[in-house]
Parts: sequence; structure tokens; C-alpha cells
Amino acid sequence: MSKRDYYEVLGVSKGSSASEIKKAYRKIALKYHPDKNPDNTAAEEKFKEAAEAYEVLSDDNKRERYNRFGHAGMKGSGGGGHHMNMDDIFSQFGDIFGGAFGGGFGGGGGGGRRRRMKGSDLRIKVKLTLEEIATGAKKKIRVAKQVLAEGVEHSNCSTCNGTGQVKRVTNTILGQMQTSSTCPACNGSGFSITKKPSEADHMGMIRKDEVVEIDIPSGVEDGVQLVMRGAGNGAPVGGVPGDLLIVVEELAHDLFQRNGKNIHHDLYVSFTDAALGATAEVPLLSGKAKIKIDAGTQSGKLVRLRGKGLPSMDSYGSGDLLVNINVWTPQKLTKEEKSALEALQDSSNFNPDPNHEERGFFDKVRDLFS
Ligand SMILES: [Zn+2]
Repeated sequence: MSKRDYYEVLGVSKGSSASEIKKAYRKIALKYHPDKNPDNTAAEEKFKEAAEAYEVLSDDNKRERYNRFGHAGMKGSGGGGHHMNMDDIFSQFGDIFGGAFGGGFGGGGGGGRRRRMKGSDLRIKVKLTLEEIATGAKKKIRVAKQVLAEGVEHSNCSTCNGTGQVKRVTNTILGQMQTSSTCPACNGSGFSITKKPSEADHMGMIRKDEVVEIDIPSGVEDGVQLVMRGAGNGAPVGGVPGDLLIVVEELAHDLFQRNGKNIHHDLYVSFTDAALGATAEVPLLSGKAKIKIDAGTQSGKLVRLRGKGLPSMDSYGSGDLLVNINVWTPQKLTKEEKSALEALQDSSNFNPDPNHEERGFFDKVRDLFS
């Protein structure tokens, strides 16, 4: 079936204003509204077609793309113009109906439409070491949840006949008016519980500990929130579960400080190694590495080990390990050591070069990356 032109669907011209489009859509949507056309699939198709057209023509960007490329311009993610289902339509455009159908709209349902109960979201914290962040981690965590009890049986609510809405006709000076509101007996779900374990509440829900396996991607940062769809609190009969929100907490590390993708490590080398040159061992997030200490190394020198930092969350490249070299000044000396050093004390080689230019830490970091 080929798609009809969106302007034709709404019966408006190409140059029509936003308010003309909104008015035209409202008229069609009210005409083909499912409450006025129960069990009429042709009307439902018209209702959906109009919503699809309105979704595109009410959005300046989408409308412009549609004007230029037609239906072909609407394909792909975020393009709009997809076939919308009823829930989408009511949640996106419900307000357009105003009060025309009583209190049902805006809440995501309409008269004759059950309200889909959603379980609430749960939020937990997960503590991670830098090592776990480097590789990504699977964690099993016990979560106390609200879930639908086993053995719960249900039937359609007898108060609202399963529609979730109760209608009431009142006489006013303008004549009879029909209003509909959420069924108080079932809270709009359309179901009533006919059998449940004694420990469950009136909706058939109980509290239960569940072990959830969480897959943490590598490279996450402190405070990042991950979402596991549907792993939150369960929903009453006919509903959908909430989400589990996982907040990452990064544990402090004894050996490393994190700076984005890069990690820093303070390495201490002896005065003699710094003067004579040596090989030193540095810890990595996984294993160890050896670095060369050049003869005459000053305290504060930075050595960069490429790719030994953390992976980035978008898995594009890894950071570096920056080793900050500190020269260890002896704090205890034997008599012999003391006299050996005293013999060297006046040597010009052992005194700071007045012409030596010490670069600041950030300059050194910049040097490494330039
Ligand atoms: Zn009910």
C-alpha cells in the first residue's frame, strides 16, 4: 500500500500554518477517535494515519525534510513518520483532545482504554575498583523488589467491565453530559485480583529479594548512571516493570589517581638511581611494566606509558598511564653515609644549576601530548 501525502491526509495545503495543521489534525482525530468508533478498524487506521502525518508536519525539522524528500526522507532513526501505535499517539498528542473525552486523556489512556500500570524504577549504587572499570565487570547484586506474587489470579474488574474507566451521566443546564473517570475499584488497570497468597497486598504484590546480574561496560566514570530496562519493581497485572538505575561509584585506588581516561602514578626512585640511571618497575592496572630512569633524572619528570590508562566509554581508544617520578631523599643516614655525602656537599655538580628551567606540571603534561 502506498502512503498518502501527509498534507492530503490532514486536508491542508503545503503552505498552511502550524495552528492550521493542529486544528486539522484535531478535527480528524476526534472524528476517528476509537471511543467514537469502537471496533472499527478502518477508523483506527485513519486515526493512526492522521497521527503519523501530524507527527511529521507539526515538527519544523521533520516537515522541512518531508517537503524536500517526501516519504523517503522520513526513513531511518529519528526520522519520524513511522507507523504509530495507540499508546504513542495518546502519550504524544493526548493533550490535543483537550477535555473532549473526559478525564481519560493525558494520563496515557482514554475511555475504554486500560491504564497500563508501570512498576516504579529502582536505583542502586555499585562500587567499582579501577581494575574493574578497566575491564568492565559483571556484578551480582541483591535487590529488594516489589513483584507480582506467584499464584495470583485475576479477572476483568466487575466495576468497570475491564475498561479501567467508569462513565457517569449527569444532568446539567446544558443537557446530559457524560464524563468518564478512572475506575476506583481497579485504579484503571481493568483487572481485579480473584486469588492471591495471604502475604500479598490488594494488588497481589509482595516484596522479594532478587539477585540481578549487572553488566558494567568498561571505562565508566564515577556518577554515571546505567539503565537496565524492565529490571526495576514489577507491575501489577497487565502492567510493565520499571527500570533498574545503576549509579557507578568509583573506589579510591592506593596506587593510581584517575583523570578521565588517563591515570597517574607517583613513583619514588632513589637519589642514586636518579643520578646514575636505572630501570624501575611501575604497577599497571593489570600486571607491571619496567621503565628506564635516565641518568640525571629530576624529581617531577613525567613518563608516559601509552594505552596503559583506561578505555573510554565509547570504546574508542584507551588513555595513558602517566608516571610522575619523585626522587627519594634519604631520611636516615649512618655515620658513614653522612660523611660520604658531606664530602660531596660542596661539589658544584651536587648543587642546583641556577640556569635550570623547571617546567610546571601542566606544561609537562602538555609536552607529553604535543
Ligand atoms: Zn475497574
